[in-house]
Amino acid sequence: MKCRCGRSAVFHSKVYRITLCDRCYPKFYVNLVKRSIKRYRILKSSERVLVCVSGGKDSSAMAYALKELGYNIELFHIDLGIGSYSKESLKAVEELAQTLNLDLNVVKLKDYGFTIDDVERKKVCSACGIVKRYLMNRFAREKGFDVVATAHTCEDIILFFIKNMLSGNVEYIAKLKPRIEGYDKLVAKAKPLFERTEKENATLVLTLNLPFTPLECPHAPKDVWKEIIYDVEAKKKGFKLNFVKAIAKLAENVSTEEWEVKHCKICGEVSNSEVCSFCKLVRRYARNVS
Ligand code: SF4
Ligand code: ZN
Repeated sequence: MKCRCGRSAVFHSKVYRITLCDRCYPKFYVNLVKRSIKRYRILKSSERVLVCVSGGKDSSAMAYALKELGYNIELFHIDLGIGSYSKESLKAVEELAQTLNLDLNVVKLKDYGFTIDDVERKKVCSACGIVKRYLMNRFAREKGFDVVATAHTCEDIILFFIKNMLSGNVEYIAKLKPRIEGYDKLVAKAKPLFERTEKENATLVLTLNLPFTPLECPHAPKDVWKEIIYDVEAKKKGFKLNFVKAIAKLAENVSTEEWEVKHCKICGEVSNSEVCSFCKLVRRYARNVS
C-alpha cells in the first residue's frame, strides 16, 4: 500500500479512510491530538502542563505530540520500584527527555518507605493507582503546574467505563471527562489521547523511533474486557472512537459539584475519609514509618 505522497505506507485506517507513510503519519497523528484538545478544551495554551510518562509507548507519544503543538510542558515519572520493569521504564523516560529536550522530574516511591512490590498481590494495582494519583497531583500543585496530563487511550476509557458501569459506580463517569477542572488542592487533569488508540500511539513511537520500553508490568492482570473491545472493533470498525465520544458526552452531563471536600489529617491532601488512601498505604507498608 502507498501513502498519498507515493511512499510506502506504515499506517492504514479504515476509520479515517487513510493510508500514510512514515513522513506523513506523525503530522496526521499530531493533528488528531490537536483536534481533540480543541474540541473538548482539554488544554489551554497559557498553561504549565505536567506530562506524566510511564516509559510506555502511549505516554511517549503524548509527550511528542504536546511538544510539537508548542505546549509549555515538563515530564514527570514515578519510580514505583517494580523490579527490572521500573529500571527499564526510568531508562526509557530519561532517553525520551533527552530526545525531546524536555525537563524530567522523577519521584521515587521508595522515598516514602515502600514500593509497589511490597504491596500484597491482590491489592497491587489499586494501590498503584492511589500512589500515582496522589504523587502526580501533589507534585504538580507544589511545583506550580496548572494541569496534569495523562496518556489514557480510548481503550483505557472504554475499559474504565464498562467496569464501573458493571459495578454500579454510575457517578464515576465524571472521571472520564477529557478534562476535569481542579478544585481545592486538586490540580486539573487532562487526557489529550482519549480519542487515540494504542495502535496509533505505537505507530507514532515506532515511526519516529521515540524511546519507550516494550516491557509490560509484571503485575498487569490479563484483561478479558480489552480482548472483547478489540474483537468488537475488528467486526465493527469505528466502534472504539464512537464509543469514547459517547462516553465524553455522557460524562459532561454528570455533575461533580455535590462532592464534599475533606482533608487527610496526616498529609492535608484531599481525601474521602479522615486519613487519605495514600497515607493508609504508607502506614501499612512503609518499613521505616510506624
Ligand atoms: Fe501499577 Fe503495574 Fe498495576 Fe499498572 S499493572 S497499575 S503499573 S502495578
Ligand atoms: Zn494523607
